[in-house]
Amino acid sequence: MLDVKHIREDFPILRRTVHGKPLVYLDNAATTQKPRQVIEALVGYYSRSNANIHRGIHALAEEATAAYEGARERTARFLHAPSERGIVFTRNATEAINLVAQSWGRANLKPGDEILLTEMEHHANLVPWQMVAKATGAQLAFIGISDDGRLKLEEYEQKLTRKTKLVAFTHMSNVLGTINPVADIAARARRMGALTLVDAAQSAPHLPLDVQALGCDVLVCSAHKMLGPTGVGVLYAKEELLERMDPFLGGGEMISDVWLTHATWNEIPWKFEAGTPNIADVIAFGVALDYLDRIGMPAIRAHERELTAYAMKRLQELKDITLYGPPAGEDRGGAISFNLEGLHPHDVGTALDHEGVAIRAGHHCAKPLMRRLGVAATARASVALYNTTEEIDRLIEAIDAARRFFQRSIKVAA
Ligand code: PLP
Repeated sequence: MLDVKHIREDFPILRRTVHGKPLVYLDNAATTQKPRQVIEALVGYYSRSNANIHRGIHALAEEATAAYEGARERTARFLHAPSERGIVFTRNATEAINLVAQSWGRANLKPGDEILLTEMEHHANLVPWQMVAKATGAQLAFIGISDDGRLKLEEYEQKLTRKTKLVAFTHMSNVLGTINPVADIAARARRMGALTLVDAAQSAPHLPLDVQALGCDVLVCSAHKMLGPTGVGVLYAKEELLERMDPFLGGGEMISDVWLTHATWNEIPWKFEAGTPNIADVIAFGVALDYLDRIGMPAIRAHERELTAYAMKRLQELKDITLYGPPAGEDRGGAISFNLEGLHPHDVGTALDHEGVAIRAGHHCAKPLMRRLGVAATARASVALYNTTEEIDRLIEAIDAARRFFQRSIKVAA
């Protein structure tokens, strides 16, 4: 059991009000709030240790370098990666996927090859592959989803062929909440000689992750969804794969030697980190991972699973609601999309905001999935470790208030 009351005390923003009501923050799939430990790490770094890293020979530069590289080791431990050599810091999960698409994709894909994706991908794991397919002549193929929002694994079996060079898919859908069976998908891909890329942007903040047990070749996530700062993404890849890939960006830091006409590359992972990185935010991200691990990812998952089940039960009790994705259970996370009959999700979001309840409404950067669901948009509430059942009750009350308000306005208008 999580001591949520205690945890909430670490998040200063949770004490604020919005439109005169205590904030209920249920937009965690977009970005999570930050504990004071992370905020203090940022202030502490700029107050005490600020310097550029790797190149310096003074005390501050050494401190900053040790803290930055310490965060890399921390990230490797969080993901259970064999070593920190397989951890590259990028700007966000999107950039990590683009790095693989541009560096690995352009060099390894050709006409006749296939990249296998799914219908539930975020644009971040779709558009980079569209771009690389256009550049190389490779084809895109897609695993469909069932009406309850699960991947059709029998379709995967049919579409995975010797032509498939990469299977890239989300661990947890940001719209449906579906948790995909990564180890099974990766094992099948491996038997067919294809690489796997896992988009863990939504799972990394909520589930224990072990890249070795999952058996994937690449996994990406974003610090800002994991209690960390914005501006930091993680690319984990098997070391032999990173060794074989050319750099994505050229410049300082990523070189071993440079002549006027050519250059040789630094070792991994620095080969992929051109220029001055986001030092302070990477260091604070390491503190966020400490925070998550101190509480324990299995305990976080258990709490959020209970909260998700409670939220879905309460939402289901409402009349005229459509809930998307699988029922609460083993293969579902806490991103809960819904629509209320006759109400536009944006109106629902705005009305909830007036009650101090922050949710998201829109296509959630998953337009092909919206088309598959037959809607233009959904409202989405998404939970994190600091949310409570009382906050779910506030969500339900706010939805009720919104429905009453809009029904009244419809009657008045009629
Ligand atoms: N993948 C999924 C499933 C996401 O939900 C998101 C962000 O919402 C991303 C990728 C992209 O993350 P970022 O914008 O931090 O790069």
